[in-house]
Amino acid sequence: MAPFFCLNFFFQPTLTLPMGNTLRLILGDQLNAQHSWFSTVDNHITYVMIESREEGSYAPHHIQKVTGIFSAMRQFAQSLQSSGHHFYYHSILDGSEPNLRTILAELAQKKGIKHIELQEPDEWRLREDLEKLQDEGFEISWYSSEHFISSSDEFQRLFKGKKTFLMETFYRALRKRTGLLMDGKQPVGGKWNYDAQNRKKLPKDHLPPPPFLPSTDVSKEFADAMAAKLPTIGKLEDPMHFYWPTTPAQAWEIFDHWLQYGLHSFGDYQDALTTKSWSLYHSRISFALNTKMIQPLEVCQRVETFYRTNPEVPLNAVEGFIRQILGWREFMRCVYWHRMPEFASENFFEFDRKLPQWFWNGETKMKCLSHTIGQSLNHGYAHHIQRLMVTGNFALLAGIDPDEVDLWYLGIYIDAFEWVEITNTRGMSQYADGGWIATKPYVSTANYMKKMGDYCDQCHYNPKTKTDDDSCPFNALYWNFFDSQRDKLQSNFRLGMVYRTYDKMNITVKAGIREKAQSLLDNINAL
Ligand code: FAD
Ligand code: SF4
Repeated sequence: MAPFFCLNFFFQPTLTLPMGNTLRLILGDQLNAQHSWFSTVDNHITYVMIESREEGSYAPHHIQKVTGIFSAMRQFAQSLQSSGHHFYYHSILDGSEPNLRTILAELAQKKGIKHIELQEPDEWRLREDLEKLQDEGFEISWYSSEHFISSSDEFQRLFKGKKTFLMETFYRALRKRTGLLMDGKQPVGGKWNYDAQNRKKLPKDHLPPPPFLPSTDVSKEFADAMAAKLPTIGKLEDPMHFYWPTTPAQAWEIFDHWLQYGLHSFGDYQDALTTKSWSLYHSRISFALNTKMIQPLEVCQRVETFYRTNPEVPLNAVEGFIRQILGWREFMRCVYWHRMPEFASENFFEFDRKLPQWFWNGETKMKCLSHTIGQSLNHGYAHHIQRLMVTGNFALLAGIDPDEVDLWYLGIYIDAFEWVEITNTRGMSQYADGGWIATKPYVSTANYMKKMGDYCDQCHYNPKTKTDDDSCPFNALYWNFFDSQRDKLQSNFRLGMVYRTYDKMNITVKAGIREKAQSLLDNINAL
């Protein structure tokens, strides 16, 4: 039998025409082979996967993200087809109609099929668009993606009548329900949260292990073919190394390697900033999780089993990791569905500045930003604190329009899908929701950067001063931000200390800060 596809782009997927009376659509981020849809082969059902130009270009995506998703989709299709399922695969190389719904509807009409089944998309935009199939005369049935641990109903029940929505409350409820890291009714170790232990700087002579390279066969030709069809940003590794998994087996390969060599130090150095490694002790599994190649509950269970059989692994690492997935990831998804579609246009500070040009090429004299943006362009990856306290911190202090910030984050990161990108960017990082997700704006002066890493040691700017020619831009911008947003922030009880410190500065210092900040903002592209 001829191969269904090959990752080399010279081989095109076979276009098997639909059979039976039902089409089931599988989106590019619905690659869950364990879904109950696939447990039996049904000759009345044809699965459909579509590489759509619209999906690939609603933001300029990183070349590694486009390549990773389309490769993973093709391998998913191939594996289902070899299990006997009927399949129709629409390749982007066909170059026809860009819209996913239109391609699906045309296919159904051509074959006289009325019934279409879908897994609930994780993005508002797609859900809204696919619902139109009903108005176009199709019968549609929705199914769960069977991926997440929690549901919107559980979120609503837990926070019913409450004014605040704390991640910690949600996380503890999920720990109790799933039994993860529990000894009976008590949390393992006696505490729910060990975050305070997870804030160490990397010691000077400490070199984290290099990121593990999975045994992928994604080719440069394939990536180039995708790039020719879509607007992309970022780079491929040269020579070609593809660090991202495109099958569940590769995802587990990366994950199991990380359990052995990364988990023990994940907690301690989770927030560290360094020029020595682009992924530190982070797991790099967000892409596999967000495309649903692997399931979050199984990830957490594997971590717990590893901990129970290797008791020398520190609990702060284990709890810290499980909290990111069981806590933050699940929480962000529920917040997304609770707050959309209004959430996507919130702009609490009414900021409207454009993103500086160097966000797209990393060419700035600020080492923290040139390093973080540079590695994001090279690898489609930056860890949480780089996203929050370097790029996000700067964007907020500089008053960048949250739409611009969202577009950048949505395009550049391998794991960026709107439900988890926008909640983190517009909510947690940019405070554009006015404090719904974060209890205060996450901003800092150079002090934080200096405390957590080595960027400032290699920088053109001086982290210690505020208003000199070579002063670190973060310093004046930080105080200027709080000064100019006083009416919106002063009543926040977590910011009392900030305003007390600012109010103690003398009037000349304050005027100098304002002047310096204005000059930095006027020359933002030259920083
Ligand atoms: P690790 O540090 O090893 O953590 C393990 C897993 O925990 C991650 O894979 C992820 O699934 C989950 N996780 C950790 N933090 C969060 C969080 N805040 N929200 C949701 N899940 C979390 N994550 C995305 O998956 N997609 C995004 O588009 C995205 N955009 C972000 C934008 C900003 C401004 C910020 C501050 C954070 C963003 N995050 C996003 C969260 C986090 O930065 C990434 O999940 C993480 O860096 C992925 O790398 P990792 O797999 O090595 O994570
Ligand atoms: Fe960043 Fe300022 Fe430190 Fe330079 S001195 S690395 S700009 S925080």
